Amino acid sequence: MSAVSPARSQAGSEPVAPRHDWSRREVEALFALPFPELLHRAASVHRENFDPAEVQVSTLLSVKTGGCPEDCAYCPQAQRYNTGVDATKLMSTEDVLAKARQARAAGASRFCMGAAWRSPKDRDIPKVAEMIREVKALGLETCATLGMLSGSQAQALKAAGLDYYNHNIDTDPEYYDSIIRTREIQDRLDTLSHVRDAGMKTCCGGIVGMGESRAQRAGLLHTLATLPAHPDSVPINRLVQVAGTPLAEQNTVAELDPFEFVRTIAVARILMPKSMVRLSAGREQMSDELQALCFCAGANSIFYGEKLLTTGNPDTERDLALFARLGLRPMQVTVDADGHDHGGTVHADIVHDCRQGCAA
Ligand code: SF4
Repeated sequence: MSAVSPARSQAGSEPVAPRHDWSRREVEALFALPFPELLHRAASVHRENFDPAEVQVSTLLSVKTGGCPEDCAYCPQAQRYNTGVDATKLMSTEDVLAKARQARAAGASRFCMGAAWRSPKDRDIPKVAEMIREVKALGLETCATLGMLSGSQAQALKAAGLDYYNHNIDTDPEYYDSIIRTREIQDRLDTLSHVRDAGMKTCCGGIVGMGESRAQRAGLLHTLATLPAHPDSVPINRLVQVAGTPLAEQNTVAELDPFEFVRTIAVARILMPKSMVRLSAGREQMSDELQALCFCAGANSIFYGEKLLTTGNPDTERDLALFARLGLRPMQVTVDADGHDHGGTVHADIVHDCRQGCAA
């Protein structure tokens, strides 16, 4: 008999209320469902909460690349690995604004600034706050990913007008020290708590295909789904093995079965019914058919990388062609009385480009 309560997991005519009390056993039971049954349940939950023909489109750009002191085993931006990534300084506000205007002209409603830091120094906060204020003044919502924040830093960013903060929990707490040793998952959870306390929305997910077990993938999603508030966006990244990083150099991590990736998307959709479930890093390596299965399993957001800011990019053309073949369309913006959009035709995430959706 399934460990998943039918009343709570099987989609029917009643919308599934978001739960925060999932047990790990229930999450593992969802992963173990027959593939068609899991997809049916996820697709049903998706329909109850979203128009399944709409996909939010996001893009990203690094404002401070490489030179990161952390040791994330998947990341080419860690300064300790020889990956050929050159460290850059924080972009000037003027240069960031030029990109923000470009994103706005391309239809962006939200703009995210990110830096490959373990955490910002207090002296960095005024510079980032200035960027946030100036981007906000362009009429864009603001998003940032800067690493771990103290409570006062989170408050300062909120006061500058920051709407969203992106901060991934990487992997299952039990697997964490196999991937990262320079911090603990509790550090990430503490930052998420500071972000929520400051009144900002959260974007938080993780990476799969790093050699973790199915039970550990369930542990990652269980951790996300039992946070005090489900993240507004849940990026699910599939490992891209980059030469020079430990996960690539050890040559011991087998590529994740594509069906297992779809299962991960489907379970995320069921556990967090009102969140945007985002295909992020690793999407470029996916076939059109795999992406289509992910959309059927409840994914409703994609990363474009920096492509959105590059007109005529062939990869962007391929994405649009896939949308047309599948009958999908970019999610439209609705603007509330306070001028905040919900959904977003284009969510311009400008973050450091570690190709894993790092959320440093
Ligand atoms: S994933 Fe983020 S925190 Fe980790 S090394 Fe890369 S930039 Fe630094």
